[in-house]
Amino acid sequence: MATQDGGSSRATSARHCTHGKPIKVPFAVTRATCAHCLRPARACLCGWATPTANRVEVLLLQHPLETGHAKNSLTLLRLSLARHAVAIGEAFAPALLQQLLDGPEPGKTQPVLLYPGAPDAPTFLPDPHGPPPRLVVLDATWRKSRKMLALNPALQALPRLSLSAPPPSQYLIRKAHKPGQLSTLEAVCHALAQLEGDAARYRPLLQAFDGFVAQQMAFRDTAD
Ligand SMILES: [Zn+2]
Repeated sequence: MATQDGGSSRATSARHCTHGKPIKVPFAVTRATCAHCLRPARACLCGWATPTANRVEVLLLQHPLETGHAKNSLTLLRLSLARHAVAIGEAFAPALLQQLLDGPEPGKTQPVLLYPGAPDAPTFLPDPHGPPPRLVVLDATWRKSRKMLALNPALQALPRLSLSAPPPSQYLIRKAHKPGQLSTLEAVCHALAQLEGDAARYRPLLQAFDGFVAQQMAFRDTAD
């Protein structure tokens, strides 16, 4: 198990992102790497960052195999969302996972897993009198996300939110991406829009993501 705060075998040093939270930076960062988004300078995506005041908190659980993926959409999400936490791992220690799911104020939010429903999994039903939802998202391939669910019973037990009528994805970069599947950024934006009843709040970030995708496609064409 590895979290953002430890567990990685790589040497790291602390820096601070714009949200004031410490992030880990490999010592091997070169001058050609953006110190903020940690991507190669020519592929820096800081210009696409779109400050977005999400009301529902987001917990992003990233599979370790996604962390080194240059085309992962999580970085742009992290640079943009006002209220979020990230942890990296596959099998989380139960006590740590509970802390992550509870958030800074246990009992003040209801963790809800963004994942397709299953017959044996409870479906999230908004309760105007209950605590507000805290959106839990697995950043992983479908195969790895199923493994994360299997390895973490606390995730299996969460009520699930499915996207109602998800729009077509703009995320055409990754070859493994199938029609009908959304990038993590798109899925999070649409889920937040659904939970908050405010699609307009997430439109600028989704548009910025389109720009980022176009930039990536241009790089790929250049490389070809
Ligand atoms: Zn950057």
